[in-house]
Amino acid sequence: MATKKKPFVKLQCFDCKRVNYFSRKSKQKKGEKKLELKKFCKWCRKQTTHKETKK
Ligand SMILES: [Zn+2]
Repeated sequence: MATKKKPFVKLQCFDCKRVNYFSRKSKQKKGEKKLELKKFCKWCRKQTTHKETKK
């Protein structure tokens, strides 16, 4: 059996578009809804909205 790939998502600062965080996607049954988190961005030096992005 091949090992399953863990779904990884990048969290991208909505302000500066830099990827600051990585997250493993939790089992969301709500489907298509994208992850959105308030995180501190060291580039913006403030809390910004970080959105899930793919590759
Ligand atoms: Zn930023």
